[in-house]
Amino acid sequence: MLVLSTKSEFREHLETVRALGRTVGLVPTMGALHEGHLSLIRAAVADCDVVALTIFVNPLQFGAGEDLSAYPRPLERDLELAEDAGADVVFTPSTDEMYPEPTLSNVHVEELTAGMEGASRPTHFDGVTTVVTKLFNIAGPSRAYFGEKDFQQLAVVRRMTMDLDQPVTVIGCPIVREADGLAMSSRNVYLSASEREAATVINRALRAGAAMISAGERDPSVVETHMASIIEAEPLAELDYAVVVDPDSLETPAELVSGTTARLLMVAKVGTPRLLDNLGVDVP
Ligand code: AMP
Repeated sequence: MLVLSTKSEFREHLETVRALGRTVGLVPTMGALHEGHLSLIRAAVADCDVVALTIFVNPLQFGAGEDLSAYPRPLERDLELAEDAGADVVFTPSTDEMYPEPTLSNVHVEELTAGMEGASRPTHFDGVTTVVTKLFNIAGPSRAYFGEKDFQQLAVVRRMTMDLDQPVTVIGCPIVREADGLAMSSRNVYLSASEREAATVINRALRAGAAMISAGERDPSVVETHMASIIEAEPLAELDYAVVVDPDSLETPAELVSGTTARLLMVAKVGTPRLLDNLGVDVP
């Protein structure tokens, strides 16, 4: 497995790969790899000839007072896990390499970024779409793998590639969970033992919301209130939001329509970290 840290080496390597007629799979991450990230690498390995993993903790997507400096960076272990999962090349640029000058240019996606994570973290999505555009520009034509774990991010990146004709096909991959249902996250390492146990309430609340819809509930606000009440009953958890949305527009419909799919999205703080999770449900 090749490990590259400069933009020019990474760009030239993937240009050579494509010149040989091979397809490129791209897996952008911030490292601290877990099974969720590895599932993206494996999906890319199954579809593409050459798989490139990127590891970059992007300062632009962290707000003031967020965990940028504390964010875990276990690079040696990440490289071993990436190689075992089948990655062919890893791009690990420094912050100076990615941003030699303070960026004066930003990529901004309207509407889809207004609510949920966009409302709680006002500068977050511009940071994500700007760095992902840079990575797409450096890597070139490819298939890029993103997790449904960050459901809003996936919708935003998909829309960006379409609006801007970026030569990248975005592939969404299912959420990988711990045995007790907690969605895997690099931030789960911040949880104490009691918080780790309390964190399972998030997935339980989502499943309770999905069960209500499966049983015939059509009013999103009733489902949202029920999910919120389950989080509020857990003393160690603090709800940020619990919403029922259309999976494409990310807007809450007035009423759920039979034969469509709804997406339940939730964020709660348990101890230090904000934990994200979501679930799709068919409206019967
Ligand atoms: P991150 O390193 O947190 O920026 O995540 C990099 C990519 O891995 C993003 O596309 C995430 O959505 C995806 N990802 C993170 N956790 C999971 C998970 N539990 N299951 C599936 N994908 C995940």
